[in-house]
Amino acid sequence: MPATEISQKPSFSVKFLDSLFDLADGERIRKCLQCGTCSGICPFGYLMDFPPGLMITALRADMFEDVINSDSAWFCVSCYACTQFCPSQIPITNSLMTRAKEEMLLAGTVPKELQTALENSQRYGNPLGESPRKRADWTIGIEPKVNIMGTVKRPVDVLWFVGDYPSYHNRVQSVSKALAKILNALGIDFGILGPEENSDGDTQRMAGEQGLFELLAEKNGRAFNKYAFNEIITADPHAFNAIKNEYPRLGINFPVKHYTQFLAERLDQLKPLLKNEIKARVTYHDPCYLGRVNGVFNEPRILIQAVPGVELVEMPHKLENSLCCGGGGGGMWMDGYHWEKAHVRLSEWRVREAVETGADILAVACPYEPPRFEDAAKMIKNAEKLVVKDIAEILAESLGI
Ligand code: SF4
Ligand code: SF4
Repeated sequence: MPATEISQKPSFSVKFLDSLFDLADGERIRKCLQCGTCSGICPFGYLMDFPPGLMITALRADMFEDVINSDSAWFCVSCYACTQFCPSQIPITNSLMTRAKEEMLLAGTVPKELQTALENSQRYGNPLGESPRKRADWTIGIEPKVNIMGTVKRPVDVLWFVGDYPSYHNRVQSVSKALAKILNALGIDFGILGPEENSDGDTQRMAGEQGLFELLAEKNGRAFNKYAFNEIITADPHAFNAIKNEYPRLGINFPVKHYTQFLAERLDQLKPLLKNEIKARVTYHDPCYLGRVNGVFNEPRILIQAVPGVELVEMPHKLENSLCCGGGGGGMWMDGYHWEKAHVRLSEWRVREAVETGADILAVACPYEPPRFEDAAKMIKNAEKLVVKDIAEILAESLGI
């Protein structure tokens, strides 16, 4: 090329920036004030070479390739704290961080654990690599039997989207069993998809795998369309977020509630059944995708306080300012990677805060949390007596079922 001729080819940074503008509110990135709020509030910001604010600086300096060549985006656990508190309302989590992860996936710089979870999701429809045929095995022994839509072949009032961990993970299956018993006690006519259910795909999306998310969403959409029901409930805030906010963009439109909303609406019916007193101080962890992302703060607390004997005590980080458990955005599958790089686990910070309240029970409402917090409690001083329970387990205990 002659020395005077200037290349018109856009740089990587320019192409990346343009791609953000195609995303919802992506163009707001131009309004960054460089205030540093996002980097300061990010739970892993201090470990990133490029925390969110500095990523934007790198974009402006035409140096975004340096970001992609670092491991900064893999420290993003999609907790939405940066997005929540950004004064310019830039959708940092959904645009900048997720797009950066997409580029890193394309470049092949993917942590091994994440790669395995994504491959499992593609092959088996769940990140754990379990057989789809075993998806309803957790229901064995529950009476009356849980309706599996493909077997009962009749309309139901409520379709319960169970989710990956509540279907397969040994610890979280007990939450599913508790919720099934509560629904039965309330006389709810419900069914599950069983083998026809696939991962909701939301965490894969936030880990940068938009194509895989769409594949999984479309499979679930086809299953939803096969059956007649009035509404969907789920115990998984990630599934709740996907079906409520992301599936409609693919033309998959169904009303969905988190189970805490569904039960809180039936409090008049539920409360007289809560006969067993549980004398305990209970603190509640707001899951990112139920609280900060979708604004469901009251219903879990209403249910906890409905249990006779329970005293609700709050942690300093609560509501919009809740601490992340570290499981979102693919973090659930990258504990080893994060530990190796940072020697820190966000779940331990949360458990430490719960212990400091003097609580007997750490109540949760997300299937990622019982295994994460129970594991963390083993490492925290004075956490030996802290019991981690999903709200459904606390309610089932009070119901005596
Ligand atoms: S919080 Fe928002 S405005 Fe402030 S540096 Fe981060 S992205 Fe920019
Ligand atoms: S979503 Fe959370 S983890 Fe990701 S960059 Fe924002 S604050 Fe950090």
